[in-house]
Amino acid sequence: MTAAQSGGLPPAVQALAQADFGAVAQLFRDAGFAVALPAPGMLQVKATVHDASRPSVVLSVGVHGDETGPIEVLAHLLDALSRNAFALAVDLLVCVGNVDAIRAGKRFIDADLNRMFRPVRGSLAQAAESARADAMIAATTAFFGDAGPVRWHLDLHTAIRPSVYPTFAIVPDLVEEGAKAALIAWLGQAAIGAIIMNPQSAGTYSYYSAEHCGAAASTVELGRIGVLGQNDLSLFDDVSQALDGLLRGLPARPVKESPHVFKVAQEIIKHSDDFRMAFDRGTHNFTSLPQHAVIASDGDTVYTVRHAEELVVFPNPDVRVGLRAGLMVVRVA
Ligand SMILES: [Zn+2]
Repeated sequence: MTAAQSGGLPPAVQALAQADFGAVAQLFRDAGFAVALPAPGMLQVKATVHDASRPSVVLSVGVHGDETGPIEVLAHLLDALSRNAFALAVDLLVCVGNVDAIRAGKRFIDADLNRMFRPVRGSLAQAAESARADAMIAATTAFFGDAGPVRWHLDLHTAIRPSVYPTFAIVPDLVEEGAKAALIAWLGQAAIGAIIMNPQSAGTYSYYSAEHCGAAASTVELGRIGVLGQNDLSLFDDVSQALDGLLRGLPARPVKESPHVFKVAQEIIKHSDDFRMAFDRGTHNFTSLPQHAVIASDGDTVYTVRHAEELVVFPNPDVRVGLRAGLMVVRVA
């Protein structure tokens, strides 16, 4: 039995983990919003009178089913906000990503959902997650369809492994400069330690929203995986406050320290079963490697560090052939 089924959870957390928006949806409806449930695990709350100056915000959690901290954070935020629903200052789409995997207490059922937000899915097309990605793409595209110019998508995750930066974010390079500056400022508000500017899609949900919906989008990694109901929510205080401020349209709080900014130096792709990495899954994110150090080998191909220093993010030699086994980044700001 998973924690989501075991009771003892705050009702709001239990409901969101089960993709049940019943109580929250009704409170927003009662407050006069246009509320829709475009797909299981998706709640859309819009002002009834269209206003192009109103920001449109997508918040997604549980795209990886075992990353439960953000589910708890968002459940508490939505619960509080829905009780004072008039304070909602944005059009909002909430997405609970891999509902079946959350229920099962697993990262995914067949394959990583956060690699499927691209038209060509190859060997992933038959996975259970493929249909879910289609439903999320359809709802997200429809949500942004009549949105004004201010568009956000924050996809909230927790990292598999420890990190030199406990919180960090991936931001697509192609986000428009003004929106990117606002996004980076918000990430500073949320006390995110590092930002990786990403030049290329790995098939993630946030990259899709940036590329196809014009959203200032980011995959935000918030510390460690934990069991639903047992996460230390004090670790999420800064991001929780920053999210609340975004949803209520509050003025920005002072930023303690601006995030460090990195760009991608190399993407390490696993091309064959001969792929061997110089480190294992236990390697911390942002571990530093010196120039010429071997990163991985794949048959005759050897990947080495090209800059004076590169840091490894998301090292995972166990991914399927054809997928990204790690990113090498360098600091630029
Ligand atoms: Zn994740």
